[in-house]
Amino acid sequence: MNHFNITIIGNRIAAAAALISLGQRLAGNPSLKIALVAPSPLQKQHPVGESLPPTIKPLLQKMDLWDDFSAQNYPTSEARFTCWDNEQLQPTFAHQTPYGFGWCIDRLAFENSLWKKAKQTSFTTINAIFKHSEKTAEGWRLKLSDGQTIETDFVLDCTGRAASFAKTQSERQKGSQMVAACDFLPPLNQQVHRSAGVMIEAVEQGWWYSSLLPNGELAIAYFTDREHIAKSVCHDKNQWQQNLNNSQYTKLRVETGEFADFNQPRIHDASMSCLNETTGDGWLACGDAAMALDPLSAHGMTTALWSGYKGANACIDSLNGDNQPLQQYNDSCKQNWQTYCEQRQAMYRRQTRYPDSVFWRQF
Ligand SMILES: Cc1cc2nc3c(=O)[nH]c(=O)nc-3n(C[C@H](O)[C@H](O)[C@H](O)COP(=O)(O)OP(=O)(O)OC[C@H]3O[C@@H](n4cnc5c(N)ncnc54)[C@H](O)[C@@H]3O)c2cc1C
Repeated sequence: MNHFNITIIGNRIAAAAALISLGQRLAGNPSLKIALVAPSPLQKQHPVGESLPPTIKPLLQKMDLWDDFSAQNYPTSEARFTCWDNEQLQPTFAHQTPYGFGWCIDRLAFENSLWKKAKQTSFTTINAIFKHSEKTAEGWRLKLSDGQTIETDFVLDCTGRAASFAKTQSERQKGSQMVAACDFLPPLNQQVHRSAGVMIEAVEQGWWYSSLLPNGELAIAYFTDREHIAKSVCHDKNQWQQNLNNSQYTKLRVETGEFADFNQPRIHDASMSCLNETTGDGWLACGDAAMALDPLSAHGMTTALWSGYKGANACIDSLNGDNQPLQQYNDSCKQNWQTYCEQRQAMYRRQTRYPDSVFWRQF
């Protein structure tokens, strides 16, 4: 049976960050055997979420990714437009905030650049899905979808909201059960000047997000609760148009920007959740597996990078007999989650225009 010292499960941002961190930490000692269990190196599916806050810069520098990132020349958001606690669309300009608004990235290109760096670390890829775990005296025995069983001393769960491994080790607190219907609208006319920047607009049953991507497409997403989206028959273009008609400024942005009609919006889980314990004996969860944030914060990718980076370091310390960094990681996650929940609730409660709405009443 194959034996590894560290097994990373997952194949996106948190997993790449963990591998980069392990590569940096193990530079002088590449003797540890690392496995990556993932369906494929990068799924073909178009990932959603493209706003990166300025606070990501020090992290990218620490991971030696900054030069590559800045060479991409991603557009920085000069302004953010918000229609939230009153009917007006209010701009906030970058110079009015301490650090500006960050970048609007090409998500797939960004993830590819992380993987380019991650592949400098020596690891074995197992193209399979993790299915089942069993504790052994030394670590874990993992059953995979391709029928093989591997043994490992330590598991890093980077499986996103599924938390496939960690959910068998710790309870998961659930926050709001939001979903997002996302689409990418290509420009119909290249000559039209379109304003960049993120726009957020509260409507009766949720809120809209839109942002102009580096390739000229408009990323558009409607965040609402599960029941509402189920009723609105997501494959019906007329229903989508009706949802858009309930907005004022987002509809105007789509129309005046001369973008194509809705394609086939994809529904994504956008619920919030957090593990009660993000670490345990021989395991640690990173990224959305540890805590999945509300996309309103646009901090999910930064958290995935931070936790993958920090978590992998704590894993090495633990393998060396020092479990204190594991505990510190767990404490930081708990602290961040609590602060985040308080800030988020305050933000949603500022919106009081729809007292009868089922969506807004939950906050
Ligand atoms: C609609 C929406 C908009 C968003 N917008 C933003 C934004 O603008 N800015 C931002 O920073 N964040 C945003 N986010 C959040 C951000 O996308 C996530 O926080 C980030 O992708 C988390 O990365 P991850 O690597 O932890 O998990 P994921 O990206 O979920 O990757 C987990 C991977 O693990 C794999 N996996 C699952 N189970 C198994 C298993 N059993 N075995 C093997 N592999 C498995 C999955 O196939 C998946 O590829 C948004 C999220 C949503 C839903």
